[in-house]
Amino acid sequence: MKHPLTTYFLEVYQESIHIIHDKVLFVISDHKTDYLILEGNDSLGFFGELITVGSHQAIKIPLTHHNANILRSHFPFTNPIPVLRKKRSFGLGDRLGIAGEGHLRVFKACDAYPVLAQQSMRELTLTKRSYEDVLDAASFAVFKFGYHDGFGADGDHLKKMDDIENVLKLGYTMITLDCSDYIKNDVLTLSDEEIKNRITLPEVMKKIYLDREINVEGHLIHFNEMDLMRAYYVYQDAIEYTTKVYQKFFKNQAYAANLELSIDETMTPTKPVEHFFVANELKNQGVVLDTLAPRFCGEFQKGVDYIGDLNQFERELGVHAAIARHFDYKLSIHSGSDKFSIFSIIGNHTKGIFHIKTAGTNWLEAMRLVAIKDPNLYREIHAFALDAFDEARKLYHVTTDLTKIPSLKTLSDDELPALFQLNDARQLIHITYGAILTAENNQQDRFRTKLYRLWSSYHQEYARMLESHIGEHIRKLYDGFIS
Ligand code: ZN
Repeated sequence: MKHPLTTYFLEVYQESIHIIHDKVLFVISDHKTDYLILEGNDSLGFFGELITVGSHQAIKIPLTHHNANILRSHFPFTNPIPVLRKKRSFGLGDRLGIAGEGHLRVFKACDAYPVLAQQSMRELTLTKRSYEDVLDAASFAVFKFGYHDGFGADGDHLKKMDDIENVLKLGYTMITLDCSDYIKNDVLTLSDEEIKNRITLPEVMKKIYLDREINVEGHLIHFNEMDLMRAYYVYQDAIEYTTKVYQKFFKNQAYAANLELSIDETMTPTKPVEHFFVANELKNQGVVLDTLAPRFCGEFQKGVDYIGDLNQFERELGVHAAIARHFDYKLSIHSGSDKFSIFSIIGNHTKGIFHIKTAGTNWLEAMRLVAIKDPNLYREIHAFALDAFDEARKLYHVTTDLTKIPSLKTLSDDELPALFQLNDARQLIHITYGAILTAENNQQDRFRTKLYRLWSSYHQEYARMLESHIGEHIRKLYDGFIS
């Protein structure tokens, strides 16, 4: 039965209708932005404006940080929970804070837990958002679309203790610790002699790893002295730092949060022996990881399919997955957007127990929507992105060839959306998001307001696009195992 108050508004999100202290509370859209509407004149702590609709009084509540805190205090399901110990979890960096509708349609229909709030410092700086904004968008989204099953919040790729403490205090339920500053990339250029000159291998380590074969689910892990020295040289500092972070924030469960270790953003692919070494050393230090993200062989570039040797990937993934199970954590796959050729392999070798991270693909779908609905605006942004590309690529590893993107002059409006099937065009738009969102003209933002208006007017189309695109990721992953 429809609550009479809801009938006064043009667009009510039907799944947002909840009852609190016998009063109805729901979300409306006026096609520019969203508001909460609370029946009656008792604000329950929300800051809003008293309005009269028909014979009813109600409070119209903007979606601010304060109001998000109040919402979280009234509705436990709008708070994030730790999800990495669940069988399947899926990270969805929603850089724009508008992807919840599409994402939640996917996750209502499957048994993986979404990490709806997931941003790195780099993404926050580039989009001028804060960790508060990102979490608030997730809380409002689950309320708006009636998703009560639990979601995670990830402080993604954090390096510094202060940043980690910050997001944990905000209630984030997962930290992805990025140790890349402690990983020695110059190992690739060093000869065996040079490595030997730089380190002395502790005797105890030799006893643990050398002259034996370690059997992990039938995979034989074997270290020769040079493997061990290199692993020690590359990862020892990262292991020490991870131990410090663990002891400070996770050991006594001061926060209800999971710890993921990422060693993926480095120059050096993580060999299975090195993965074993890192995991075993951390275990010896008493560190309990919930997930670990190795850098796999081949290339995981943003927003495009896997580039590399599928057989080698599958072979090594099999060992990485076995090592993860051996040490009782999940494998985490970063830059997982659009890796359609390997999803079922991942589903298979992890036996359906994984964490996958995606981010930029949601932004690309949002820009594809712009190409469909407002070709002129898209053309303007595309030209801007071509100019901004060189600066943007300093922050991202991509092999984009701009000469492979057709000149827009040669394309009709109807042909623009097909640009998003070309890897080079995808990456052009993918990595220039920060420049596009923060571009200014006469001290006013150049695209941002126009873009958010468009996305708000067409939010249902955007949700359908994401449901289909992220849904395809999930279907392919689930093809690889029996749940
Ligand atoms: Zn990563």
